[in-house]
Amino acid sequence: MSGTTEQPIRQQTQDERAENPQDRPAASLKELAGTLNPEVALVLDRALAAEDISAAEATLLFGATGPEYNATVLVADELRRRTVGDIATYVVNRNINFTNVCIKRCGFCAFSRDFREEEGYFLPIEEIVRRAQEAWDYGATEVCIQAGLPPQMEGDLYIRLCGAIKEALPDIHIHGFSPEEVLYGSVRSRCTIREYLEGLQAAGVGSLPGTSAEVLDQELRDRISPGRITVDQWTEVITTAHQLGIPTTSTVMFGHRETPAQLASHMALLRGIQQQTGGITEFVPLSFVHTEAPMFLKNLVQNVRPGPTGMDVVKMHAIARIMLNNWIPNVQASWVKEGSRMSQLLLTAGVNDLGGTLINESISTAAGAQHGQLMRPSEFRGMIRGAGRVPAERATTYQLRRVFSHTDEEHDPLDLVGENVEEIFGSYNRLVKLDTYRFEHPRHKQNAESAENNAESAEKDNQNSAFSAIPLRPLR
Ligand code: SF4
Repeated sequence: MSGTTEQPIRQQTQDERAENPQDRPAASLKELAGTLNPEVALVLDRALAAEDISAAEATLLFGATGPEYNATVLVADELRRRTVGDIATYVVNRNINFTNVCIKRCGFCAFSRDFREEEGYFLPIEEIVRRAQEAWDYGATEVCIQAGLPPQMEGDLYIRLCGAIKEALPDIHIHGFSPEEVLYGSVRSRCTIREYLEGLQAAGVGSLPGTSAEVLDQELRDRISPGRITVDQWTEVITTAHQLGIPTTSTVMFGHRETPAQLASHMALLRGIQQQTGGITEFVPLSFVHTEAPMFLKNLVQNVRPGPTGMDVVKMHAIARIMLNNWIPNVQASWVKEGSRMSQLLLTAGVNDLGGTLINESISTAAGAQHGQLMRPSEFRGMIRGAGRVPAERATTYQLRRVFSHTDEEHDPLDLVGENVEEIFGSYNRLVKLDTYRFEHPRHKQNAESAENNAESAEKDNQNSAFSAIPLRPLR
């Protein structure tokens, strides 16, 4: 027993509660709504009247707790219902992250490896095409291709990659190459961003992921990922793609060092782009996975949070719906980051899409996410039905392919793969251990090749020369 005297908790009297209208028991839902903070209520009313809320108003919503938080979620759900109805979608696709070797060192990235590290891998074009073919055979309509930036990359690699996939699979949609990769391809090819995008388009790219955005705030980027593509460059790649008729997605990474005001400005910037070009298909909030992120693990950046809280996640999606609803109709929950239970919950907070089957999720797995590498189509359908909505498979750019209005007995080929997913499709954890696809620096390759050529011609010389007696060895 401690020596302190416990005080009995005194209940407020009814008269005392009546002094503060917010504390007074509400006799009806309408009355309950009347107890909301008037400033928050005004913002939500404007959103319900189909007005665009400002970045400052969105910032206010990020601070919502209690009834104001619940009202924000309710309004997001209502706006979703009005704009896209009760259908919730998913896409059957495969991720091909063809190399983890990267010249950059973004503080949040646990996926990339230096070219000297043992775990660096690089898939050759034939293997990438084989993976795309395998995905197609399992019912995928899209391959999503993103990777690290390998040193001394041949500038036209991404373009040749698209050409090779399209030659084998003319009807597959290539959703590939983040603005950071497009910029790198253009720099390595010594051409403009527009010229590079034209090359990708001619080779068959269908859309670009709007990743490498994190938070579009230059000061914050300089802290968490110095040397990363700048806000202006990111905007240039995205708007140029739209001008050429290449649609893109859009994303945000949250739960690290950013402020609500930065998140709101980020969405305002995306909304401004969309108002000009109309080229953005969806918005995807991505929770920061801190477990293996260098800036958290090694304390490289001060004051980094260990990812968002559950309420942060719900608010991020709900406020995205409220802020972007008039311009970007689709808000996606990422099961890779949030898991299936939270993703289902987000369907009640403005979300109408659950992303792709992925088959080979690598980037979040490397960062310590625990949600697996594949989501089967039937699992998506179950989550959507459980939330009282109608599941549908979509194409990358949101045309509906199949709507499952009634309980479906259908099984997609991907539903029939057993538990041994890694055996069939491989996995990130296996790939980094395999010697078959070990990354070799082009400089070393060139040295080895020229040594081999030297050795070959010397061998010939030897054979032609009756006087040669020096044994030849390839140079190291
Ligand atoms: S986020 Fe992309 S560019 Fe940055 S280190 Fe990782 S792979 Fe490289």
